[in-house]
Amino acid sequence: MLNQAFRERAGELGFIAIGFSEPRTPVYFDFFVHWLREVEVGDMAYLRRNIDLRSDPRRLLEGLKTIISLAYPYPASKPSTPEGYTVSRYSTPQQQDYHRRLRGLGKQLCKSIQEMVPDSRSRICVDSAPILERSFALMAAIGFIGKNNMLIVPGHGSYCFLVEILTTAQLSIASLKEPENRCGSCTECIDSCPTGALKAPFYLDPSNCLSYLTIESEDDINKGIAGNMGNTFFGCDVCQEVCPFNRKGLPVVSLPSKDSILSMTEIDFNTTFGKTALGRAGLRKLKRNLRLLRP
Ligand code: SF4
Ligand code: SF4
Repeated sequence: MLNQAFRERAGELGFIAIGFSEPRTPVYFDFFVHWLREVEVGDMAYLRRNIDLRSDPRRLLEGLKTIISLAYPYPASKPSTPEGYTVSRYSTPQQQDYHRRLRGLGKQLCKSIQEMVPDSRSRICVDSAPILERSFALMAAIGFIGKNNMLIVPGHGSYCFLVEILTTAQLSIASLKEPENRCGSCTECIDSCPTGALKAPFYLDPSNCLSYLTIESEDDINKGIAGNMGNTFFGCDVCQEVCPFNRKGLPVVSLPSKDSILSMTEIDFNTTFGKTALGRAGLRKLKRNLRLLRP
């Protein structure tokens, strides 16, 4: 009853998949720890912190009983400048940064939980807590993890944001089944990764991943790797674009021209992109990346 009421409310707010899981050590936690020992995480050192919290989500909220995983869609069309230079789809530069938007929606859901279970407490996570979100999404049965490491929601694909609500309310939780992987013999994402960063199924080398290098990394991008950026100057969607579970979408011109971006001051940038996901990379990185693209 509670679950159904919650699902309906989340559906009204635009979430496309909703599931519930137990607060326990997430599946693939050992794989994650092993992977962390092997790879260079560079400017994502935060991944190495709070391993104890990642292993036991009950440390994130006292009295935690249920983890709710939710998926919220973003468009299959890629934002583009008039010349055809693009940014990753999830950046949705015409909208407020998705962290803020989804937190706002999450707050409404927390309010609904409180109305249903008055003495409950809830916490929203939108990339804001050390939690293996794809593992919990899998445990909540809202999708499967593809060989490209993305959560794939059946009927929708991987073009979606993930949100978790941790709550002390006890919702009913289905018993965990053996996770199903629907990739089958497909290896499109691995074969198409322009830098070879996707070294093997589920195994990403961040130090070669264009998504990391163009958004997170403060360092210069070496010319050899930059030659694989295609026409994208923020992120990289190749391992999702080739996935047969994703819809194809034509680029949509929703960005200023390359020259306009290159001539922006910090004030211009803050006015145009400050509240969007592009704002998180900052002007210096966007200019650095744009200058690396072929004219
Ligand atoms: S985001 Fe791009 S570079 Fe990174 S693994 Fe996917 S295809 Fe490779
Ligand atoms: S491209 Fe193929 S192997 Fe990669 S995630 Fe999609 S279905 Fe799985």
